Amino acid sequence: MPARYVRARRPLGLAVLLAGLLAPVLTMAQSSIEPALPAAGNTTRDVLQLVEGDILVSAASNKTRAMAVNKTSRLWPDGIVPYRLDDSLYASGVAAVKEAVTYWNRVSGITLMPLDEWPAGQAVPADSVVFQYGEGCASWVGRRGGEQEIWVAPNCNAGSMMHEIGHLLGLEHEHTRPDRDQHIEIHWKNISPDKQHNFDAAPAGTKLLGDYDYGSIMHYGPTNFSANGQATITPLVDTGDEMGQRIALSEGDLAAVAELYAADLSIVTTFVTESSGSELNLYVSNGGLQGAHLIEVEVRFGDGRMSGFYGEDWQCSSVTEGRATCQIARMAGGSSSRLSLQLSGTVSAGDITANVSSKTPDDDPGNNADSASEEPAQGAANALEDPAVTEVTTTRLGAASWVWFLLCAVLLHRLAGERIYRHAGDRIEGLRRWSIAVRG
Ligand SMILES: [Zn+2]
Repeated sequence: MPARYVRARRPLGLAVLLAGLLAPVLTMAQSSIEPALPAAGNTTRDVLQLVEGDILVSAASNKTRAMAVNKTSRLWPDGIVPYRLDDSLYASGVAAVKEAVTYWNRVSGITLMPLDEWPAGQAVPADSVVFQYGEGCASWVGRRGGEQEIWVAPNCNAGSMMHEIGHLLGLEHEHTRPDRDQHIEIHWKNISPDKQHNFDAAPAGTKLLGDYDYGSIMHYGPTNFSANGQATITPLVDTGDEMGQRIALSEGDLAAVAELYAADLSIVTTFVTESSGSELNLYVSNGGLQGAHLIEVEVRFGDGRMSGFYGEDWQCSSVTEGRATCQIARMAGGSSSRLSLQLSGTVSAGDITANVSSKTPDDDPGNNADSASEEPAQGAANALEDPAVTEVTTTRLGAASWVWFLLCAVLLHRLAGERIYRHAGDRIEGLRRWSIAVRG
């Protein structure tokens, strides 16, 4: 990919519009082919039509754009998008989709996961995407529910599929931002009358994330939908040739998706020493509204050794002296999970550090690392004076209960929206949590 799109220093570029989450969206290839309805066989739900060239909407709905009332319901849970490739695809379409999927999976915190490789034993998700033949390149905006389509015409290349996946994740067209007239000029006289709706701006008041981003892969090119070959959009500043590019995600595109899908992981670590050995408790929480996936905890514990572990759905691997790495596949928003490691050998609380990370972007990485606190100083002392197991157990349970109480209090506090109110004047923080910022 050209370095200019990656290295370009521009602000967040989250041109996210609240509009259109309730409406399916499709995007057009860079060529100006006229998108058509998909072939028969896909008409079980309703008749589809396109807006803005490549955004799918239901013809039965006169609502082509809408403020998102509930953004999280239109995002993909835990940042994972299940998909399949339909037999109707041409070989060129398969290649374009695979390249775009691989690219998104590599550069972003989102994972598009093929349904035919779905982990055994895990329920097949109710909502998914099918890439299928269509006479245009188009996608709904955001998660619609059930199996939703992305159209792949024979001329759709990897770049146009990257753009469609942007819609799929919830992004709108950049040039429809309500503040676009400060950045571009629309030449209405050059646009075919029946195509002018593709250039309608989202309503004033639509919330935005980041600054206007000419280099967004979600921006139209200068001559899209031209009736006479002349420009339909010109930038008000010199942008080189980046406007309308279909080569790579801009920094603003990546930041937009990261904001939409950010989780908020944190970790609290406590350490219990007894005569029989030591137990390290790792309390991992996701305080965000969005779920996370591919969560990993890396623990270091001096000269100790891990002799066992317990934690629902956790797996520990790469175990060596003084270090363990443990993973859990997914963690929903507003949830917590406890992982306990049994340690042997000489370990003190001062040796212990733990760090949690995930593929999913993290809202606040500042609380992802913790050093162990020695939980039962009291319990250990009691154990020495009075080796009664019950007493030690009681002490430990008491301390653990306090940790859980605090974690729950923090989660409830956040879910109650107090944090949002505190940041009400900060549009990024507010949007991140409450709007479906769809970027165009
Ligand atoms: Zn589009």
